[in-house]
Amino acid sequence: MSVANLLDFDLDGLAAHCEQLGEKRFRATQLFRWIHQRGERDFSRMTDLARSLRDKLAATARVDPLVLVSEQASADGTVKWLFDVGAGNAIETVYIPEADRGTLCISSQAGCAVGCTFCSTGHQGFSRNLATGEIVAQLWFAEHELRRRLHLAQGERAITNVVMMGMGEPLQNYSALVPSLRVMLDDHGYGLSRRRVTVSTSGVVPMIDRLREDCPVALAVSLHAPNDALRSELVPLNRKYPIDELLGACVRYLDAAPRDFITFEYCMLDGVNDTASHAHALVALVKDRVPCKFNLIPFNPFPESGLVRSTLDAVQRFAQVLQEAGIVTTVRKTRGDDIAAACGQLAGEVQDRTDVKTRRVARPIRIHAQGNA
Ligand code: SAH
Ligand code: SF4
Repeated sequence: MSVANLLDFDLDGLAAHCEQLGEKRFRATQLFRWIHQRGERDFSRMTDLARSLRDKLAATARVDPLVLVSEQASADGTVKWLFDVGAGNAIETVYIPEADRGTLCISSQAGCAVGCTFCSTGHQGFSRNLATGEIVAQLWFAEHELRRRLHLAQGERAITNVVMMGMGEPLQNYSALVPSLRVMLDDHGYGLSRRRVTVSTSGVVPMIDRLREDCPVALAVSLHAPNDALRSELVPLNRKYPIDELLGACVRYLDAAPRDFITFEYCMLDGVNDTASHAHALVALVKDRVPCKFNLIPFNPFPESGLVRSTLDAVQRFAQVLQEAGIVTTVRKTRGDDIAAACGQLAGEVQDRTDVKTRRVARPIRIHAQGNA
């Protein structure tokens, strides 16, 4: 039998694995709790497991952490970790502490194939999907490392919220994503409630439907534009799944969602999508159709984007139009931008296999001159 990485399994998967070793399900539960609740990876220290099982595990399994390359801490308390995932690829994980919560922003892929024009990860191209174990390992590391550093008591949690908003499009890595979500939610794992785990997607419509069936957690949808022409330029996936289909999937998702609204993310780009007329068009698009909140993200610049952050004025005017239409709207605070850990600045290192740089030159972004309506 090859050596299994136990971080690859949700509890059902671990139970199936233990069954192959001739062990009952409650043994799998004990093992799962050692790994995820205690942060233990040395089987010999799992003292309530029979000696024979510990020996079997030592011969057939491992708990594989990611290889930490570097850590950067921001003046605002945000911490960014860079992990080597082999073959020249590195991914990033970001911890964002706030007074009442600790949020971990997790990566799902090395690179991203969607190629949004305003996103640093999208500019790097795509190398590969992360395995479930590599997604879970980000949380496993952060939770237990932070517990030690913050001197938390047994049972206290460092990470209270997870957002799948790091590198990659989580719904294009669906089969690895779902078991990792189950580990986050499991009471024997991290015990996070469904509303405290958010999947953010650029709009992979069929997978939004599957997530609703398989593992409904909070959903954030990266909208960024009120019409298909502009959205297709910013988020190329829109050509495959246009706005109308995307909003249909959002409405269906709400049947099963742990929250009664969808969060729309909207990256504010100066002169591109940030005028009052864009805001009015958005209101017309979603009002009376999708119960939602808006999260406006001032564009975080990175070299090569050729794009500029909207002025504070433009952001406020935009927010005001949405708010006056009765849509709850927040402006995301930029966190960790001094260490390039803010939204869209995560770049890790990616051995692009999609030749994105060549394609990008062929597709310059058009700036819409709409004035300040
Ligand atoms: N692929 C998923 C999740 C990762 S991106 C998605 O696109 O939703 C997380 C959020 O950061 C998305 O809303 C994305 O649009 C936003 N984002 C990407 N690049 C950004 C940038 N340069 N400035 C601000 N937000 C950005
Ligand atoms: Fe991929 Fe999301 Fe970046 Fe678009 S914004 S390129 S979907 S990571």
